[in-house]
Amino acid sequence: TIGEYDCDVVVIGAGPGGYTAAFRAADLGLKTMLIEYYPSLGGVCLNVGCIPSKALLHAAKVLDEASHFSDLGITFGKPKIDVPRLVEWKSKVVGRLTGGLRGLAKQRQVEVVQGRADFLGPHALTVQQAGGSRRIQFNHCIIAAGSRPVAPPGFDLNHPRIMDSTDALELEEVPKRLLVVGGGIIGLEMATVYEALGSQVTVVELADRLMVGADADLVKPLLKRIKGRYENIYLNTRVAELQPDDRGVTVRLEGKDAPDEARFDRVLIAIGRRPNSDNLNLAAAGLEANAQGFIEVDEFLRTRVPHIHAIGDIVGQPMLAHKAAHEGKIAAEVIAGHKSAFDARVIPSVAYTDPEVAWVGVTEEQAKREGLAFSKAQFPWAANGRSLSLDRDDGATKLLFDKATGRIIGGGIVGPNAGDLIAEIALAIEMGCEAEDIALTVHPHPTLSETVAMAAEAEAGTLTDLY
Ligand code: FAD
Repeated sequence: TIGEYDCDVVVIGAGPGGYTAAFRAADLGLKTMLIEYYPSLGGVCLNVGCIPSKALLHAAKVLDEASHFSDLGITFGKPKIDVPRLVEWKSKVVGRLTGGLRGLAKQRQVEVVQGRADFLGPHALTVQQAGGSRRIQFNHCIIAAGSRPVAPPGFDLNHPRIMDSTDALELEEVPKRLLVVGGGIIGLEMATVYEALGSQVTVVELADRLMVGADADLVKPLLKRIKGRYENIYLNTRVAELQPDDRGVTVRLEGKDAPDEARFDRVLIAIGRRPNSDNLNLAAAGLEANAQGFIEVDEFLRTRVPHIHAIGDIVGQPMLAHKAAHEGKIAAEVIAGHKSAFDARVIPSVAYTDPEVAWVGVTEEQAKREGLAFSKAQFPWAANGRSLSLDRDDGATKLLFDKATGRIIGGGIVGPNAGDLIAEIALAIEMGCEAEDIALTVHPHPTLSETVAMAAEAEAGTLTDLY
């Protein structure tokens, strides 16, 4: 088919961006190769990100709920936690998914090549493998090489007592005292897991709030819940120095409320991620990353070398699996000659903490900052029957509407399963819904989804009963 080329498309990296792109390309009839450094497909998300963290968070949730059930008249004994077995179960979940990807690749005749890819030129790359290297000539390329955790300069992430998210998911031990550096989504999710397993957790955050990006009122119920459980939460605080030794880590802190020095058994660094653009010899292909290390692309996910596309974490924020996968599909379709482009209006964000915090589109704080004319409708979960029957009354659902058009432009939810519920608001924004469209859609009762309907009814002026 392809003359001097080994394939129509080569995809570098088998994360959610890369495997989605490769599968879509193959489905569209393109001869596709998928290069992955690790033996397991699925990238960060399946192996050391979304999936293992959610498996452990499920265990954390069960532990937490069981410990509160005596209020409901049912008392469980003190849980016996077999950490190696929990890790084994988590690995099984991951294995089912990554193994499934192998099968899907095979079915589609996507050739999977294991090794590290480096560009040799605009149509050639080499894959370093255990036994040597292999040269691949490609017509098109999709770079989906993802990202990795960053460490503050001067901090030794290789010391066994200092962990990144990948180490933390291994659950080598449940430390008595754990410091989590970074109060973003990943740090708070891992804090939830370790606290449930018995660690005394302290969180340090440089900003004046947790989970920067979400509206403060949505983070408040989470903050309230974890304040009573975590040993300390230090905001506006910088970790100035980490001194690990055989038995623990001495930490120097700089912040108004924090002690100058504190001692922990382990430290988790979760301060952000950086794109893997430095591992690809981009220059050989005529490419370069920007100052932040991202590869810049247009709406067709094309780099400045138009037959080379880039998707996922390596092209910028938000660094989320569903964004990577969506971009992967589009890149493959563009290469196949379809009239596809990235024009998603919104990309939802979810923190799978307890309660979950989810938001999509314009946030209230952003709307105020940008001076948008908007109206806000809110519904408290304390007035939702399903929420109370789950023994929870701390949730809230908020919708924002454009004043001029009446259309929904954003929404946020805090509460159990907020991550599942946010999808309806994302759909409403994509469809250009007005409050009436949501309010007149009959929602099942009793569900948490009614809080979305009722917030819309509040906006439409048709809200009657609370239940
Ligand atoms: P990645 O998943 O990073 O995959 C890139 C792949 O490329 C890797 O497998 C890498 O080995 C390979 N690679 C890199 N360079 C080369 C090379 N030169 N040659 C060959 N292979 C190479 N996102 C969510 O949406 N929801 C979540 O709940 C969520 N939870 C997370 C929890 C944690 C702890 C972490 C760390 C991340 C989480 N994320 C979550 C983020 C999500 O994992 C990423 O956004 C997503 O994996 C990005 O996908 P990607 O395809 O761009 O790249």
